[in-house]
Amino acid sequence: MNQGFRTQRDAPLRGRNTFGVTAHAPLWIEVTTPEALAGVLTWPEVRDEPFLVIGGGSNILFAGDPQGAVISLRARDIRIVEQSDQHAVVRADAGVRWHDLVQWTLRQGLNGLENLVLIPGTAGAAPIQNIGAYGTEAGEFVHAVESMDPATGRVRRFRQAECDFAYRDSRFKREAGRHLIVALELRLSWRPRLRLNYAGIAQALEAAGIDSPSAQDVADAIAGIRRAKLPDPERLGNAGSFFKNPIVPTAVAEALQERFPDLPVFAANRPEQRKLSAAWLIDACGWKGHRTGDAGIADSHALVLVNHGQASGAELLDLARRVADSVQQRFDVMLEPELRVIGAVW
Ligand SMILES: Cc1cc2nc3c(=O)[nH]c(=O)nc-3n(C[C@H](O)[C@H](O)[C@H](O)COP(=O)(O)OP(=O)(O)OC[C@H]3O[C@@H](n4cnc5c(N)ncnc54)[C@H](O)[C@@H]3O)c2cc1C
Repeated sequence: MNQGFRTQRDAPLRGRNTFGVTAHAPLWIEVTTPEALAGVLTWPEVRDEPFLVIGGGSNILFAGDPQGAVISLRARDIRIVEQSDQHAVVRADAGVRWHDLVQWTLRQGLNGLENLVLIPGTAGAAPIQNIGAYGTEAGEFVHAVESMDPATGRVRRFRQAECDFAYRDSRFKREAGRHLIVALELRLSWRPRLRLNYAGIAQALEAAGIDSPSAQDVADAIAGIRRAKLPDPERLGNAGSFFKNPIVPTAVAEALQERFPDLPVFAANRPEQRKLSAAWLIDACGWKGHRTGDAGIADSHALVLVNHGQASGAELLDLARRVADSVQQRFDVMLEPELRVIGAVW
């Protein structure tokens, strides 16, 4: 990689997506420096063809082969770039593994990312869908996102307010193809502000005998809960939640809750809207543990589609469509994929 990049033609992608489905990239390009990336963007097969940026491949379903080059950003530096008595700004290159970044910040004594522990993928992808878990979203801590414009090779800096973060959404997701995120800066606090009132955290800490937890204790407790609930992609291919929790008008949520009193309903970002539990809707349609060939729904979580071995991306997509159709028919609620589908239109 002495020029800052490495290429491979007809590159297998099976080991490069957490579903573990077979696909091939006509050209695979690993890039380690912004300068090399700017150069790669001028190559005709990148400049003139649609290309895909990939991080850890944990939020992608290859329902077919990508049409053009696949670019993987490999720079992996993490450092503190600004600090005061109260806060520090941590800068991570796009290729840093998100979980490593969380652990690094906790080791420095910084607080904020503890509830986002063990989410697979890279720092560069985190702002794309504003990753979230256990009552926290990455966007809350974003100080700035640096993104290279593929058309010009210029790096632009977006402050938090310019990122338009929303539930599993951001301007980077809405403007796909216009941003190559090269670095992420997070503003974290030296003082703990723990969020423990979410699904099982307090109970897990109590079970471990911890009554005044540190951020690391919270991260460890959440890691334990996640390991018990979510299948490990190393053993059973999956991409975490396949669908977003649907956001509906409050009146629709209330009407559904009258018919189905057990349906979990959460606050949404806007007061006139509510968020429904997609897992509950799917479970109510009887899908948990379902299997068609090697494409299935996890036993432990109705939102997680799994590859039992040799399922193709197209088979997983077909199953996802059947799940969404059944939820639509029974509840008149439309499910949308959380992940990006390549090689097919949802
Ligand atoms: C077991 C499991 C659990 C999960 N749990 C959660 C969870 O709790 N919360 C949550 O929000 N998500 C979760 N996910 C989904 C996933 O981990 C996140 O969406 C993660 O941010 C994806 O990162 P990635 O690097 O793998 O992105 P990829 O899958 O490689 O890419 C995802 C999208 O981002 C784009 N992209 C990637 N890197 C860049 C870049 N540098 N610049 C521009 N675009 C880029 C890609 O083109 C693609 O559109 C889970 C996934 C798994 C497998």
